[in-house]
Amino acid sequence: MPFVAAEQPKCPKCGKSVYTAEERIAANAKWHKTCFKCGLCHKLLDSTNVTEHSGELFCRHCYGRKYGPKGVGFGGGAGALSMDVGEHLGNRSTEMTNAHHSSQF
Ligand SMILES: [Zn+2]
Ligand SMILES: [Zn+2]
Repeated sequence: MPFVAAEQPKCPKCGKSVYTAEERIAANAKWHKTCFKCGLCHKLLDSTNVTEHSGELFCRHCYGRKYGPKGVGFGGGAGALSMDVGEHLGNRSTEMTNAHHSSQF
């Protein structure tokens, strides 16, 4: 019996066929690159910053906020809203310190 013709994979987001030229693979599915975006902030994603949860895609930032940091080096205690990252104490926090006031250097 001949193999059933391979069905074009469907994008979970919009339900339309995904062709190889525009596919992004995550969560065991193929997505259009235009559908490959965060379910919360709708930022377009790529394979370097996508995370998935229950078949939905999120950027790392939203995933961290929604489901908690996972493998991300938030140095402080969970739930601490202090913006003091302890840089003056020699902490090597590199994530999310962009807004830090580093004026004197
Ligand atoms: Zn799509
Ligand atoms: Zn997001």
